[in-house]
Amino acid sequence: QAKNAAERDAVPYHSGLETGALHKKRLGMALRNAIEANELSVAYQPIVRAGDLAVVSVEALVRWNSTEFGRVSPAEFIPVAEETGFIHDIGRFVFDRACRDLVDWPGLKVSINVSPAQLRDPDFANDLGLIARRHDIVPNRFKLELTEGLLVRNPTIAKRKLARLKSMGFGLSLDDFGTGFSSIGYLRQFPFDWLKIDKSFIAELGTNPTANALIQSMIALGDAMDIAVVAEGIETAEQLNLLRLLQCEYVQGYHLAKPMAAGEITALLARLGDSRRMFADAATAGY
Ligand code: C2E
Ligand code: MG
Ligand code: MG
Ligand code: MG
Repeated sequence: QAKNAAERDAVPYHSGLETGALHKKRLGMALRNAIEANELSVAYQPIVRAGDLAVVSVEALVRWNSTEFGRVSPAEFIPVAEETGFIHDIGRFVFDRACRDLVDWPGLKVSINVSPAQLRDPDFANDLGLIARRHDIVPNRFKLELTEGLLVRNPTIAKRKLARLKSMGFGLSLDDFGTGFSSIGYLRQFPFDWLKIDKSFIAELGTNPTANALIQSMIALGDAMDIAVVAEGIETAEQLNLLRLLQCEYVQGYHLAKPMAAGEITALLARLGDSRRMFADAATAGY
């Protein structure tokens, strides 16, 4: 009896682990061909000024449509790519693609996500500089989005690398703010121009008083340090209204616009005209 129970418990657990590892290995192998097989693409999501709802920038988000696995989420394959080292090829692919695409979007900045492993690569800054120069794009068209984990693990090296990127002209954005371990004092040591309040806080906005207070204090922090604040993951008109009341400067989320193909960004900009304002009526409704 006891033995049966042990077997019953052990078997699914063990095979579950094995399938997970095997699946990751398969993903990692398929990923290696993904660029040549034309399976990777880049979607762009508008970032909007909260006050007048003008589109000011877009965030580049990599997409993988695998012949073997179908659409795979970056949340699933980016960690695999970090483990296999393929993240460096993905990073250069996304940056090169963005350089080509932004030519059609005068005045817009493009945010690029950067994994810790990419920043650790000694050639990272040089590679970006070379790719930008090849396309005749100035680095200040870009904001590099980094996460806190990277700063906490090795602050001295991170500081040096960020200073270098900044001196080249790249803007720096702290992504997923509030989910890591960085303190307020900590943030001051790094030259960020933008901070993005993580969507987990926005999801609780209006329902959880603690979330409201935290968001409010992050916005105040950005103001005090002269760092532009972006709230990500806005899914409802109510969240947008609350963020405008809290004087959050920039917003991003499905309620405003979903990530879309480059051509759709071009069409959106054409439709919005010179003001680049979305929901013209909502923006003038007076908050
Ligand atoms: P992130 O940088 O925090 O990007 C925001 C994620 O939230 C994106 O997911 C975006 O599609 C999603 N999102 C946008 N608006 C909403 C909303 O209103 N509600 C909800 N629930 N989600 C929203 P995505 O594209 O699946 O990317 C996931 C993560 O993968 C990114 O998080 C980023 O960390 C990473 N990633 C994406 N593209 C790249 C890339 O080119 N390079 C690297 N290194 N990482 C990337
Ligand atoms: Mg990001
Ligand atoms: Mg984020
Ligand atoms: Mg992230």
